[in-house]
Amino acid sequence: MTSSPFTSRHEENPNPLAAEQRIAILENPGFGNYFTDHMFLAEWTPDTDWTDARIVPYGPLSLDPATAVLHYAQEIFEGMKAYAHADGSVWVFRPDANAARMQRSAHRLALPELPVDWFLGSITALIEADRDWVPVGEEKSLYIRPFMFASEVFLGVRPSKHVTYSVIASPAGAYFKGGLKPVSIWLSTEFSRAAAGGTGAAKCGGNYAASLLPQQQATAQGCDQVAFLDSAEHKWVEELGGMNLYFVQDDGSVVTPELSGSILEGITRDSILTLAADLGHEVIQRKVSIDEWREGTASGKITEIFACGTAAVVTPVGVLKWVGGEAVSADGTGADAGAGKVTTDIRSALVDIQYGRAEDRHDWMHRVC
Ligand SMILES: *Cc1c(COP(=O)(O)O)cnc(C)c1O
Repeated sequence: MTSSPFTSRHEENPNPLAAEQRIAILENPGFGNYFTDHMFLAEWTPDTDWTDARIVPYGPLSLDPATAVLHYAQEIFEGMKAYAHADGSVWVFRPDANAARMQRSAHRLALPELPVDWFLGSITALIEADRDWVPVGEEKSLYIRPFMFASEVFLGVRPSKHVTYSVIASPAGAYFKGGLKPVSIWLSTEFSRAAAGGTGAAKCGGNYAASLLPQQQATAQGCDQVAFLDSAEHKWVEELGGMNLYFVQDDGSVVTPELSGSILEGITRDSILTLAADLGHEVIQRKVSIDEWREGTASGKITEIFACGTAAVVTPVGVLKWVGGEAVSADGTGADAGAGKVTTDIRSALVDIQYGRAEDRHDWMHRVC
């Protein structure tokens, strides 16, 4: 049997970044720009099961050009954040949900499922090793990126018999530079992100590769993000490239597109189902058509729209644009526009739990160190 990651080899980085440079980075980390001094690695083969769990200095991986992932994209990942609380303790939000989702993604991509204790052990080991990299302060966190890929050197097409699991970490400030300014959304009518029976519900790199061209088109249209519809009818709202969507209705209810098999089951999305109900809103999961979005913003039936995900938390949606038209949410898009009240309340309820400012009534927070 495999041993626990807690018994992993630990190789201290002999050249960690100097404290003053690290502190300067933590002042204004942006997103995904800087990486901590260490990383976690483990290997899997059918014979050994999971093995060789280790913390080593952060650095490049050396890959044979025939490494399977470079050709067939057998790869999955996760994203979560570690938060510094006022008393100096460090916590992560619902890591058990990330562990379970990574197992579901692994299943879809024919990768081996990582045991939950290995997942939790790996993120704990890395955060403990790089604890000084957890930024302190409003909206800051240490973004944790577990990922797994086919590392067998083989060009035949079948599931890899050597798989590498790794965790890296990157200090994070606010995801969108504008803060809580509403984002603009480009409706992709030409492309879908995922199809029924495809990999849309798995958190795999391939889904992101397929979203880059439509995202590029969104950027060319002056929009921040791209929205995708279902692939069969091009009618039902699915999600953004990396965030789920919520619609607030004039009767106070909040609606999110029901899981379709091609929508990624966001942990933020799931948490908001509970938090919105806690705040007294009726919460509805059902199909939302693109016409409902357009007409609802025009008529005032939809009062607020927001996108949600670990990286950007909860972000108001201002305007939806498509070839030949646009629909502006009630909370507007001007330079002085902000977030609507329901969006703001839900966002606060979530981040207050994450940063330890509100009672963790649903037992979501997991203390790391
Ligand atoms: C990760 C992701 C989300 C958000 O999931 P969270 O668990 O809330 O971070 C939404 N959509 C896609 C496509 C994603 O990859």
